[in-house]
Amino acid sequence: MTESSARDAKADPKVMKRPHLYRFITELNHRKADAGYSIQSASHMLENHSLQVVWRDGESQAYPYMWLRDNCLCKQCYKPSLNSRTFSFTSLDVEMIPIYALPSDDGKSLRLTWPDGHSGEYPSDWLRQYRFENSAPDVTFDSQLQHWDTTLMDSGTLRIFNFEDLMSSDEAVYEWLMEMKLTGICMIRGSSRMEGQVKRLGDRVLFLRSTYYGQTSHVLVKYNATNIAFTGKAFPMHTDLAFLQRPPGAQMIHCIEQAEGPGGENWFTDGFKVALDLKAEDPEAFHLLSNILLEFHDIGEDVFGRFHQHSRHPTISLDRSGSPDHIYLSDHGRMPMMRFPVKQTQKLYQALKKFSNMYHHPNNVFSYKLKEGDIMTFDNRRVIHGRGAFEVTSSSSRHLETGYLEWDEIDSRLRLLQRQFMEGM
Ligand SMILES: [Zn+2]
Repeated sequence: MTESSARDAKADPKVMKRPHLYRFITELNHRKADAGYSIQSASHMLENHSLQVVWRDGESQAYPYMWLRDNCLCKQCYKPSLNSRTFSFTSLDVEMIPIYALPSDDGKSLRLTWPDGHSGEYPSDWLRQYRFENSAPDVTFDSQLQHWDTTLMDSGTLRIFNFEDLMSSDEAVYEWLMEMKLTGICMIRGSSRMEGQVKRLGDRVLFLRSTYYGQTSHVLVKYNATNIAFTGKAFPMHTDLAFLQRPPGAQMIHCIEQAEGPGGENWFTDGFKVALDLKAEDPEAFHLLSNILLEFHDIGEDVFGRFHQHSRHPTISLDRSGSPDHIYLSDHGRMPMMRFPVKQTQKLYQALKKFSNMYHHPNNVFSYKLKEGDIMTFDNRRVIHGRGAFEVTSSSSRHLETGYLEWDEIDSRLRLLQRQFMEGM
């Protein structure tokens, strides 16, 4: 990768045209932040076991008595340096009702006194922040996912970042990670052709997720007359490490060297989008794939020694609202073990086949042959991926380095960056 191609990546029209959506979300949250409002009054709503707080701007919120006592901010109950409660609520009488609830003269706080004499003060801004179902959405949990198909990807949905920007700019890191959260995939261009670039990206988040294959792993295919495998075989569509109970959250693939000659494209499908397509088209198939547990295994030896992994997953795992939150696909790791009635298998295979037709459909598969210096990063819970067959010529070889991230670390970084941007405004 030369300096000029790094500049080309920087000047990519797709990068320039896309608005800075996520800075906008940050600003919006900031404007919505409930700061500076004074409390007008606080009155009992005994039937709801709660205190009704009314602010001078007309907003109001009921706060359950027990919640107020449980979250008392006095020195005895709460240690700010630890962000932590210092007692267990089980020591309290859950039927307690405060005997006094008095806003301060300026309305900036509310003081509660309890029957046992305990007393605590709650800032108005703090109360506004915790408004139960009226609370502001959380950027890491409540963001609306953007589903995609081939048409959307080809028309610029795939966002492209410059590697050096990610090394130096926190805004770029925020945009990159939000993009991975919302569309589940984005591309980084302009990295060097040295090993270790995936680790450098991981360091910009927090740390890489190691696996039994090491901290990162190398996929190296060389032209070798003694080796029968001149041809890199196609790698079927899958999600990574389905044989783990907790597969890695996100994946990064760095192309250090690309084989000359035809083939070798990477394929990517939005697994959540096709799962919802299946649900709309064939609810019974969707029900089977989201309920029947399949088993996966991986047995062998690698950098840390011998391993025997074994997992159980539905093909389409759902969250509590019924939305797909993890796709588990591995044709090579799927075990013969099926611990369910024989009569279910035919319908299960029909459902798997239907789902497979959908995630292989040209309208859904975004195909891209990585160039040297490219790093594709994507949500491994969501993006089903594979690779086409390729040939290795005598004058070239193919070398990829891959690494993983966990969503806990990505989300942690997003929260810290969001706070940093808000404080800087
Ligand atoms: Zn207290």
